[in-house]
Amino acid sequence: MALIADSLIGHQEQLQKLKDLLQKDLLSHAYLFVGSQGIGKKLFARAFCQISMCQNRGCGKCGDCLKIESNQHESLLYIEPDGAQIKISQAQDIHQFLNLKSTTPRRFVIIENAHQMNVQAANSLLKVMEEPPQNTHFILISPTEQSVLKTLRSRSQLIRFAPLSKEQIQSKMNLPDWILNASHGRFDMIQILMTPEMDNLRKKAFQIIQNSQSLSLKQTFSDLKETVRDRETALYVILCWMQFLRDLSFYKSNIPTIIHADHLDLLESLKSLPDEKIFSLFEIAKQVEKDIQGNVDRVLAFENWTLEYTT
Ligand SMILES: [Zn+2]
Repeated sequence: MALIADSLIGHQEQLQKLKDLLQKDLLSHAYLFVGSQGIGKKLFARAFCQISMCQNRGCGKCGDCLKIESNQHESLLYIEPDGAQIKISQAQDIHQFLNLKSTTPRRFVIIENAHQMNVQAANSLLKVMEEPPQNTHFILISPTEQSVLKTLRSRSQLIRFAPLSKEQIQSKMNLPDWILNASHGRFDMIQILMTPEMDNLRKKAFQIIQNSQSLSLKQTFSDLKETVRDRETALYVILCWMQFLRDLSFYKSNIPTIIHADHLDLLESLKSLPDEKIFSLFEIAKQVEKDIQGNVDRVLAFENWTLEYTT
């Protein structure tokens, strides 16, 4: 699929607004796209660049369209943080790009995670963002407006993006309910959750919950050690468990928004667990998550949890 806009989910209102401005030749020189991580802001930016830079307003077939799709267009510069920051050397790359002669009627600089731009880099771009060369446009992308340096914010037109609804996602992708619920409208989460590896991990996480009712502490420990082989998998397992505990308390109160709705049997079998117990398990899970994020040894971090669960 060469027309990027065809793979967009949602955000049609924003697309129409920008297309109208493009049509009237009123496109601003800088935009700031804000909205939660993983809802398709970058895809949207690329889709809009393709429509703007194609002579036929986005045909999906011409050389410009194809080069944009494969991220190889010389009139589109994409910048993202190098490590934790967007640095001055990257701002210099932008200047260099702008000094080149444009080969297309319009050209774009997309700056992903613009809130991570350091002050030095931002300062060096202020003038060029205010008065860029003709038909050059900046698109800054960030989860929130406030996190972007004020000097950059004040030079950009704000465009907000809402999280995707379950219906919007479901209209394009046929997903199991639990993925829809667990992804909270985040496209990046869906992709992670759909990998066979993650699906397997989730199965194992639930197996351990199930088994830990009858298994010995020792067995549970060895299961855990086997499952959580690194920091990321440990964080994912703990996320599954926190979601499960949330589900359990909702299930007990007959609230219908269950994330892991394919584990109703397990929820039913645990519904006699007192609320205080669920709450304390959730608190421990949160602590375990914090410990793992803080680089505490993951097996030690899980020890707390297992002790509480099996006593
Ligand atoms: Zn085209």
